Amino acid sequence: MLRTLVLNGSYEPLSTVSLRRAVVLVLQQKADVEHAHPGLRVRAASVDLPVPQVIRLRRYVKVPFRQRAPWSRRGVLVRDRHRCAYCGRKATTIDHVLPRSQGGQDTWLNTVAACSEDNHRKADRTPAQAGMRLLSQPFEPTPADALLLAVGAQEAGGLPDWLVPALPLARSAAPA
Ligand SMILES: [Zn+2]
Repeated sequence: MLRTLVLNGSYEPLSTVSLRRAVVLVLQQKADVEHAHPGLRVRAASVDLPVPQVIRLRRYVKVPFRQRAPWSRRGVLVRDRHRCAYCGRKATTIDHVLPRSQGGQDTWLNTVAACSEDNHRKADRTPAQAGMRLLSQPFEPTPADALLLAVGAQEAGGLPDWLVPALPLARSAAPA
């Protein structure tokens, strides 16, 4: 899988991200392509981009890598790609796995993205009490997630649907 190196506005290397995330950053005008794979392009509808090997953020960001990213509701939605942890549909709310009424806190490991329907159904109960199952376990954000949060990029909705099928084509054209 192609990875793209992300440089800070000051040219200092920050992290690597997937090609998909790199394209999101460029399309959202958060970053410019510094180096591209020769001959490879992402092509779809109105977009024609060189496949980025290195991108540079347009501004300097302070990213607390190797440290814990501060918890936020928006951060949980970005981490979970706006997918409900209980049903996989579009999530717009945050659910406390252990409800606040039972001592649950605002932490990465105790919160998941949830659709409002499931959030309402679960109410002030644990998943076990509500007879609901988490499709995946909550986790601390990776450095790449922390980077997206720091530059204000949106993971879901950042990439037009019509571009998604184009990315594997670009990947399959890459030299092994
Ligand atoms: Zn749901």
